[in-house]
Formats: sequence, structure tokens, C-alpha cells
Amino acid sequence: MEDCIFCRIAKGEMDADIVYSDDRVVAFRDINPQAPVHVLVVPREHLRSAFDLGEEDGELLARIFKVIRRISEDEGIAGTGVRILTNVERGAGQSVFHLHFHVLGGRPMLWPPG
Ligand code: 5GP
Ligand code: ZN
Repeated sequence: MEDCIFCRIAKGEMDADIVYSDDRVVAFRDINPQAPVHVLVVPREHLRSAFDLGEEDGELLARIFKVIRRISEDEGIAGTGVRILTNVERGAGQSVFHLHFHVLGGRPMLWPPG
């Protein structure tokens, strides 16, 4: 997926503030952060959204959630509260069509807001 910005970041073809990387997963800071900590965790493999995940992706998903926990600990938000969010399709707010998990924290993350 040459025109996919998250594929390009994962391949090192585009700059990002990378906080974690392994053979299957890359994590980097969101360019437009919505909280003091706002990291995007993405699989290196191009999947359009969470709806492209199948049972064969169980290990990948376990890896992703392990990485999310590790980043939360490293960023000092694991104990105070973390929102893990993935948008599916435009109506939910998806604007980059490469599966990614938002990891948000460092401020009150109550839902619904207010
Ligand atoms: P979505 O709206 O698809 O759920 O989330 C996409 C996220 O990617 C947005 O929060 C947006 O700020 C972020 N984003 C878009 N382009 C880039 C980029 O080039 N670099 C980084 N680091 N984040 C990006
Ligand atoms: Zn991609």
C-alpha cells in the first residue's frame, strides 16, 4: 500500500516520533494529540480496520495489547487511566485506513465526556 501513510511510517519512509517498534507492531505519537499522551499503535501489516481482523490474527492482537500496556507503563499513565480506541469507517471518525489503536491518557478520560 504505497499511498498509505501508516505503511510508509512502518517502513521508515516517513518520519514519525516512534515510541515502540518490533517485527509486527509500530507505535508513534499522534501528530495532532488529543491528550498529554496520544500514541497510535499499528500493525506493520496493512489491514483497513478492526473489521479486517480474523481469528488468525489472535496472536497479533495479543501482541498489540501487550504493546499498549507497555507503552502505558512507559508513559506513566497505566495506573491513572488509559483509553484504547479504534475507529471503523468514516462515520466513526476513521481518517487513516490502516488499522490503528489510539492510546490516550494523562488527563481525565471519562466517558461520556463532561
Ligand atoms: P483516525 O481518525 O483514523 O481514527 O486516526 C488517525 C490519526 O492519525 C489522527 O488522530 C491523526 O491526527 C493521525 N495522523 C494523521 N496523519 C498522521 C501523520 O502523518 N503522522 C502522525 N504521527 N499521525 C498522523
Ligand atoms: Zn497501510
